[in-house]
Amino acid sequence: MADSSEFSFSVDARLDGGRHGRTGVISTPHGDIATPAFIPVGTKASVKAVLPETMREIGAQALLANAYHLYLQPGSDIVDEAGGLGKFMNWPGPTFTDSGGFQVMSLGVGFKKVLAMEAVGVRSDQVIAEGKERLAVVDDDGVTFRSHLDGSRHRFTPEVSMGIQHQLGADVMFAFDELTTLMNTRGYQEQSLQRTHEWAQRCLDEHERLTAARADKPYQALFGVIQGAQYEDLRRKACRDLETLRGAEGTGFDGYGIGGALEKHNLGTIVGWCCDELPENKPRHLLGISEPEDMFTAVENGADTFDCVNPSRVARNAAIYVDEGRFNINTARFRRDFTPIDETCDCYTCANYTRAYLHHLFKAKEMLAATLCTIHNERYTIRLVDRIRASIENGEFDEYKKEFLGQWRGRIKVPGQV
Ligand SMILES: [Zn+2]
Repeated sequence: MADSSEFSFSVDARLDGGRHGRTGVISTPHGDIATPAFIPVGTKASVKAVLPETMREIGAQALLANAYHLYLQPGSDIVDEAGGLGKFMNWPGPTFTDSGGFQVMSLGVGFKKVLAMEAVGVRSDQVIAEGKERLAVVDDDGVTFRSHLDGSRHRFTPEVSMGIQHQLGADVMFAFDELTTLMNTRGYQEQSLQRTHEWAQRCLDEHERLTAARADKPYQALFGVIQGAQYEDLRRKACRDLETLRGAEGTGFDGYGIGGALEKHNLGTIVGWCCDELPENKPRHLLGISEPEDMFTAVENGADTFDCVNPSRVARNAAIYVDEGRFNINTARFRRDFTPIDETCDCYTCANYTRAYLHHLFKAKEMLAATLCTIHNERYTIRLVDRIRASIENGEFDEYKKEFLGQWRGRIKVPGQV
C-alpha cells in the first residue's frame, strides 16, 4: 500500500532575524533532496540537449516535467505503462510534475507572454495576444482548451489533472489551479481564488481515491498551490484555507506551491507573506523563477525548492551565466578566445572546451552548442544554490548574498570587464 510516510520533510539550519529561509531534506520514494534546491525543468521528460546521466553528474537532485505536454504527447497512459516518468526517461532520482494548469491557460489562451507576467497599467480579464484566437475557456468545473500541437479539443478538471499526474507517477505533484495574470481585476482574482480553493478540495479527494486504487505504486506527494496575485490579504487567506483543507479520508497537502504571476520587485514580499502563514514542517516550492538574483530572494523568504527553465532555454540561444552576469557567446569578440567560459566553474564544458569553440559551434549551428552550454548553465545554477545552502548552514548567508549581488550585473558584454 502506498504510504504517505514515504514522503517527509525535515528542517535543519534556519536564517536568523525572523526570516523564513532554511535548509532541510525532502525525502521521497526515489531519494532525498537537500534544500534549498533548484529543480531543473525537463518539460517533455527531457532536459533539452542533455542526457539524464549528465544531469545527475552535474548535481541535479530532481527534475520537473510538465503534465500538459506529456498528456498530449506521448500520453500519460504510455508513461504509466513505461513504469512512470523517472523510469521512462531513465532518471532514477526524484521527479516533480506540474498540474498542467499553467500551460493549459497560458498556451491555450495565447497570453502575450511578457505582458501576462508583468504588471502593466491596465486591468482586464480578457487578455489575449493580438491575432490569437481564445483557445482556453475556464468555467467553475475546469478548463476546455485546444492543443497547441494539432488544435484538438481537450478538457482538464481537477480530477483529470490528478489522473494524469498519478499516471505520470512523479514523487511530487501539484493541485490543479487557475492561472491569473497581474492584469486581471481584483474582483476576478477573488473569484478565481475561490475556484482554485474548490479545485484544491477536489484534487485532494481524487488524490486519496487514486492513491488507494494504485496501492502498488510508490507514494506520490500532493502540493496545494497558492494563488492570490499581488494581494496580501488574498495570498494569506489562500495559505490558511489550503492548510486546513482535508480529503474525505483526512489527507492534507504534503507541501505547498507558490504560484501565479509575481513581479520581480515584490517576489520576496509575496513569498514572505505565504511563508508567514504556511506550516513550518512542510516544504514550499516556488513555481517558475528566472534569474540568479531571484534565487537569493526566494530562498531568504522561505522557498525550499524552485524550478526554472531559464538555464537551459537561454543556453540554446548562446547566453551563458557566470557570477558577474549573463553574456552571449555568439558575439564576434569570442572568435579567438581560447579560455574556458568560466575559470572558476567545475563543469565538463569548462574543463574541456574554449569560448572560441563554443562560439564556432553556435555560428555553425551545431547541436553540440546547445548541449555544452546547457551543461554549463545547469551546473552553474545548481552550484549557486549549493553555495546558498552551504552559506545558510555556515551562518554566512548575508555575507554571501552581499558578495554575489556585489558582482552580479545582469546582462554583461564580457566577463571580467566592467
Ligand atoms: Zn562551466
